[in-house]
Parts: sequence; structure tokens; C-alpha cells
Amino acid sequence: MICGLKGIFEKCSLEATSEEHIIPNAIGGRLKRVCLCRNCNTKAGDQWDSGLAKQLNLLSILFSVARERGDSPNEMILNNELEKILFREDGTIIASAPKTNITEDNNGEIHIEVQSASSKTAKQIISGFLKKENLYAKSEIEYREELESYSLDFSISFDFTDESFARSLVKMAYLYAYSSGIEGRNLDSAFAYLDGESKEHCFGPCYKEDLVINRPEEVPIHVVVVKCCAINKIVYGYLELFGFIRVIVKLGDYIGRENLMFKYFLDPTTGEELNIDINLDLTIEEVNAILKPQRSEIESFNILLESKFNLFIKKWNKKRLRKAIEWASCKASQELNQSKEENIQAYIFLVYKNLSSLNIFN
Ligand SMILES: [Zn+2]
Repeated sequence: MICGLKGIFEKCSLEATSEEHIIPNAIGGRLKRVCLCRNCNTKAGDQWDSGLAKQLNLLSILFSVARERGDSPNEMILNNELEKILFREDGTIIASAPKTNITEDNNGEIHIEVQSASSKTAKQIISGFLKKENLYAKSEIEYREELESYSLDFSISFDFTDESFARSLVKMAYLYAYSSGIEGRNLDSAFAYLDGESKEHCFGPCYKEDLVINRPEEVPIHVVVVKCCAINKIVYGYLELFGFIRVIVKLGDYIGRENLMFKYFLDPTTGEELNIDINLDLTIEEVNAILKPQRSEIESFNILLESKFNLFIKKWNKKRLRKAIEWASCKASQELNQSKEENIQAYIFLVYKNLSSLNIFN
């Protein structure tokens, strides 16, 4: 097979030898096809998919995407109280910048306390301070895991006009079609858009009705569908990411005679393919109308995200709760050891007291 992006990036080696994640790994994609050369695979990943992954990283964390390779990186956001905080995959939220507190006691000894995301950072800050002040450490560094109390009070916004985001979207439908055996000459609209030859968006939002049949309501599904319609002489695709980014992509004019349809449904929280279906039957006029979206369609996106958010975040909230209970129990047990009490009631009391200091339950 010839590399599907031949002619777009420099140094294409023409032959497809490299496995491409049709839906990027960063958002939990699993389906892989050999349809690109290594050069174009790397360049499309660096220049297009990275933009999409960056915008969707917070959702990958909060919706508990199970990636095939690596973990989702921490996501820094500015919350409504204007604090820089980091969301982490394990259900914790921490301050983005390390906090350092240096005190001197009556004996002239200096105590350094550092709060940071990792013990490695704390160690670096402490050794940097010692070096700068020409001091030496009298005792070993003590580590303690603390949980901070941040509410989920923040807003999410996306920029779908971002070119790398948009190209990554179009590429998913295009390469799914191409690797399914649809010849490149049927996919001209998508190719011209990816190539930069056509500045016009070849995709638009699709929210008028829910096309997915038997949708699992609590799963932020990914969907990629391609349809070749011999009557309307059009090839188009439907893409859905996280259950609420829903777009139709016009791929090109169909010159074949056979109606074809390829579809793929994924639960990105488990990596499992879903056995559901889609009702996709658009006329050429309907596809063209979708490419010129109305304001109401864009508003539908926000309404859908708002209505689904609490359902999709359930898994992450469970991890958050488990972390909170572990931390509160651990802290209670330390507190009891210090006071030499071994009373189960006192222990439970302390666990609850520690838990209620976090605003998870508010
Ligand atoms: Zn190539």
C-alpha cells in the first residue's frame, strides 16, 4: 500500500510500513492500520494529533481513558479561584507549583518543608537550597503523602478552529476510509483539506439527532464510520469523540458503483470495541448543509457536554474517593500511633474527620 499522506509532508518514503492509530493513542484509540510511511506517521502525529491530544487531555484524564501506551500527562488548569492546579489520572488534584516553607527553630536549626507533585521535585528543591546556602543536611528527608482539597469548579472550552485539531479529526476519517480499501481518488475533499490546498472546512457539527443506535449512556464513546453512497456519488464519514464531539466529514466524490460502509465503535475507558450500530443516511444536500454550521448546532455541543459530564466523570470520581479514603485512613493511623491509642472507634472518628477536611463530599 502507498503511504496515505503521500504528497503532504516532505521526505515521504512512499510505501506504507508504519502502523497508524486511526483514533490517536492519547485519547484511548486502539484500532491500528498499516497505511502510512514512518516519516508521515511521525509528522502527522507531531503536527496534527498533538494539537488534538492537548485540547482533549483534560477529558482523557477525567473520563478515565485507558491508553494502550503510557499514561495521560497531568493537566494544568486555572480554576475559578485563579489557582493553577494539576489534574492527575489517579484521581488527585494538586497545586501546580511547589510550595516551600523554611523555618528556623530555637536551636538555630533550619527546617525545610516542600509540597510538590513528586518526591523527586522536593528533593531537587531541597538540595538546591542547601547548595545555595552552603548548608548540609543533618537528617534524612521525610516523605509524607498529602491530599489537597480542591473543588471541581472550572470551565472547559475547546477551539475546533485550531488547524492541528481540525486536521487530526479529518485524518481519522480519511485514513479509516483509505485503510479500509477506498481508493484515494474518492477521498479528494479530505486530502485537499489535509494538504492545505483547500482552506474550506470539509467537516461540520452533527447534533440534530442522535445517529448512534443502542448508545451506552454512561460511556464517552469514540466512533468512526465511513460511507460510500453510489446514488448520491459521495463519500462521507461520521466521527464522534468522547460521546459529544460529533462531526460529519465530507471525504470526496464517489466514483464507485457499490454502496460501502465501514464502522468502528470504541469504549476508550476499557479499550473494548462495542457492538452497537449507527443510522447514517444523508443526502448530498444534508452533508453540504452540515459543512456550514448554524450557531444552534454549536450551542447543542455545549448542552450535550454539560448533560453528559457528570456521567462520564464517574470512574475518575471513584478513583478520587478511593485516594481520599486511603489518605484519611493512613493519616488517622499515623495520628493514633503518635498518641499510643489503639481504639477502633477513635480510628474511625479520625478517618471521618480527615475525610471531611477534603471537599469531595460537599
Ligand atoms: Zn509518507
